[in-house]
Amino acid sequence: MKSTEISLVIPLLNEEGNINELLVRLKATLESLGKSWEIILVDDGSLDSTFQIIKTFASQDTRIIGISLSRNFGQQIALIAGLNEAQGELVITLDADLQHPPELIPKLLEMQAEGYDIVNTKRMEHQGTGRFKRWSSSTFYALLNRLSDVKLEPGSADFRLFTRRALDAFLAFPEKDRFNRGLVVWMGFKQGILSYVAPPRTQGKTNYTLKRMMRLGLDGITAFSSKPLRISAYLGILTTLLGLLYVAYALVAFITGHTSPGWTSLIAVVVLLGGVQLLCMGIIGEYIARIYNESKNRPLFFIKDNTREPQS
Ligand code: UDP
Ligand code: MG
Repeated sequence: MKSTEISLVIPLLNEEGNINELLVRLKATLESLGKSWEIILVDDGSLDSTFQIIKTFASQDTRIIGISLSRNFGQQIALIAGLNEAQGELVITLDADLQHPPELIPKLLEMQAEGYDIVNTKRMEHQGTGRFKRWSSSTFYALLNRLSDVKLEPGSADFRLFTRRALDAFLAFPEKDRFNRGLVVWMGFKQGILSYVAPPRTQGKTNYTLKRMMRLGLDGITAFSSKPLRISAYLGILTTLLGLLYVAYALVAFITGHTSPGWTSLIAVVVLLGGVQLLCMGIIGEYIARIYNESKNRPLFFIKDNTREPQS
């Protein structure tokens, strides 16, 4: 029996300065809804007093649940840990730094009530976002959408509502290198988008360094596309063709006697072997891409409704 209607899941890394205001605002919002709720705070290996503070709040209110991971696993995995713990019929994930305004929760619920299984959010740009962050974020989405097979809305973040059946589907992915935003798009179900303007971070600083963003970007591309591997096959074909042309030229030069001895055969060997090698690497790449796809072991489909055993 599930008695909780709404679960909130929040990953935290070194957010000691934000927890208090976060919980005050969340509680105010949740109480105004008049539904049963729980807040799951996942400490992702913080080095500051984040988890001590969480424990204090949890001891005062059993609806606040703290989980502490053994080390820093990254926001995406921390989210999964919290989602596994969530018992609510509706589950909402958000950041701890108040960039996902708690006051938007009623709007997410309203959209869900219109029949959506997943409500994603889309961040509109605001003054406080640094130039570099804005540039890197828009480049990230442009590159991702070009190279990858799922289309992502720019500005989508991990502020999102799941119904129970969508969440159970989401938790069925066995993948280790997770790019949650892409997986959600891939899943299907009825998905909506809520736009909002993000305020700047109130306390502390962003945890996404350039390195982390690049890693997230690579996960996003490789998890959803084998195009980078295919590029090498195309390069191989192109090089081989160009090589053949060059060999033809070298032969003509040889016949008309405009060459020093040995040059023609040398050039032919170098050019052709180079092209064929690249081509073979590309072919191997194609096979690896398929093995890779299989080894990810993704579920093939999800059943949305079943008339024999209605889900809801
Ligand atoms: N976070 C986390 N583990 C990490 C990095 C970040 O749990 O390794 C949390 C962080 O505490 C915050 C959310 O994930 O609640 C988003 O992180 P941040 O605000 O640093 O990212 P940004 O908003 O700058 O993209
Ligand atoms: Mg943030």
